[in-house]
Amino acid sequence: MKIAIYPGSFDPITNGHLDIIKRSLKLFDKIIVLVSFNPAKKYKFDTETKINMIKESLIEEGISEDKVSVDSFSGLTVDYAKTHHAACLIRGLRVVSDFEYEWSLNAANNYIDPSIEMVFLMAKKETSFISSSTINEMYQNGVDVSSLVPKAVLKYLK
Ligand code: ADP
Repeated sequence: MKIAIYPGSFDPITNGHLDIIKRSLKLFDKIIVLVSFNPAKKYKFDTETKINMIKESLIEEGISEDKVSVDSFSGLTVDYAKTHHAACLIRGLRVVSDFEYEWSLNAANNYIDPSIEMVFLMAKKETSFISSSTINEMYQNGVDVSSLVPKAVLKYLK
């Protein structure tokens, strides 16, 4: 069974993240969405709320837990991957600045554990402008974000 980890902040999960999850299911038998906690970052939602939003969004999409499960971890993602028998980490690429960040992340992960591969999926043009931070900013300023996030997330934004 091919297992992959999709790590991220998911603060909150957006339709861009969901698109990456759905497309990853064409490549892997099982995805573990991993809410990572970076103490250097300031998040809008706590980890438990983020997990609940992801789980509810997956139910909304009709994706079962044996295909996509959700977990959280505050250590090294490569360590989590190893203990969960995952050979790949999935990341999404939107703009060139994502590439720069992901390039060094990939190099660092490779240094730590070269047996774990990173797999990058390009964002679709329809969702490439969506990020959790722009969603939060748009919502706070009264912009209708209902076509950019799962319904479950709208409930939590309110
Ligand atoms: P992180 O803080 O780890 O970057 P994010 O939740 O912002 O966490 O993103 C997790 C992953 O999903 C990253 O690889 C990011 O590039 C990707 N991603 C985020 N939004 C989108 C989107 N709209 N389309 C494709 N990939 C995305």
